[in-house]
Order: sequence, then C-alpha cells, then structure tokens
Amino acid sequence: MKQPIVIAIDGTSASGKSTNAKLVAKALSFVYVDTGAMYRTLSWYCLQQKVDIHDSKRVAAVCRRWKTSLECLDGKARLAVDGYYPEREIRTTETSAAVPHVAAVPAVRDWMKNKQRECLQFGNLVMEGRDIGSNVFADTEFKFYLDASLDERSRRRAAEGVQENLAARDQKDSQRAAAPLMIPLGAIVINNSGMTSAETSAIIIESIRKRLSAIS
Ligand code: C5P
Repeated sequence: MKQPIVIAIDGTSASGKSTNAKLVAKALSFVYVDTGAMYRTLSWYCLQQKVDIHDSKRVAAVCRRWKTSLECLDGKARLAVDGYYPEREIRTTETSAAVPHVAAVPAVRDWMKNKQRECLQFGNLVMEGRDIGSNVFADTEFKFYLDASLDERSRRRAAEGVQENLAARDQKDSQRAAAPLMIPLGAIVINNSGMTSAETSAIIIESIRKRLSAIS
C-alpha cells in the first residue's frame, strides 16, 4: 500500500508555521496537524491538575495516564482530553510559559511522537512543530524550516494580543536534550521577515508540487 505523504514544517515560535501549514494543507487537501497544540494540551492539563510542571517525573506520570482521543475534524487532527478540546485555554500566557518545560520531558516526547505518527491513519499530512523533520518523520522528503527576525515575530504575537518572551521559549526549545528545535537535515529554510503568508506558502506549495511531479 502507498504510504501517506508527510510535509514537515518546523521553525521558531511565531515564524508563521500555523498560518502557512494551514494554507499548504488547504491547497493540497492534506490533513493539518498542529503538534504544538498537543504539547499545549498536556501543559494545560498539568496546570489544571495542579501538577508542578518542573517535576519531570510527575509530568511523565500524568502523560502516561491521561485519557485522550485523537480526532480528525474538518481536515484538522487534534487531541481531546476526557472528550474535551481546550482550544482557548491552550493559548493563554500561562500555558505558553509552561509548555517548554513539559515538552522537554523525554517520556512526554516519546508519547507525543507515537501519537503524531498515529495521525497517518488520517491520510496525507501537513504537520507543524519543532522536531517533525528531524525526529517524528525524519524520513520524509518534504521538510521546511521557517524563521523570521525576533522583532517581526514579537510584533506578530502582539498583534494576536499575546505578550510573551519568544526568545526565552526558543532558547529552551533549542537547548533541551530530547529532540531539540533545529534545522532538519535536508530542510528548505525560509526566512519570511517582510513576507506575507501568501508569499511564504506559495514558495512551499510550488516546491512540493515540483517534487511530487518529479517522483510521480
Ligand atoms: O507551536 P507552538 O508555539 O504552539 O508550540 C508550543 C511549544 O510546544 C513549543 O514552544 C515547544 O516547547 C513545544 N513543541 C515541541 N515540539 C513540537 C511542537 C511544539 O517541543 N513538535
């Protein structure tokens, strides 16, 4: 049986991964997977359960026993916990500050990697995150890495009404031992400072279409 295609889009915080991954998924009719939302959901759940997010053993224990379901709705895969998807709650400043700590726990990363691979059941994927091209689907031929200047990324977040220290989050994500943020081998790097999402996604879509026609 033919394996589904995976487009991996990694990059720094607020580098436009979500907007572009959604545009690419729509243009190609692939399923969109936001892996950051999965880590955010676990972080939110730990905060809810009053678990100390700096206690990696306790965080790993929560991850082993929480009750989740992987769903695909309107072309988007998502992880619900106890039947609930905390769409708004996972975007708060508090959750954003907690998530790099939770995401640094090796047992959490193993669990997430398995869940993210289970998304293949939904078909061809556009998956965005920090370690998709380097770890989760390291064999895919379709790897992109997005970045933009810190000023521009901070402006984008502020325009969404979110104030946070992006540099600190990127530093923590890049320096952790387990599957750190990095440019995956073979990735096309796009610095989209000063570019619109229509321009960025057009570069990605054109590159995918070229490669797809070369291998078909
Ligand atoms: O993409 P987003 O900003 O929602 O990701 C939130 C956090 O989740 C990241 O800062 C990182 O700590 C973690 N993450 C990760 N690996 C992924 C996706 C997200 O470690 N593949």
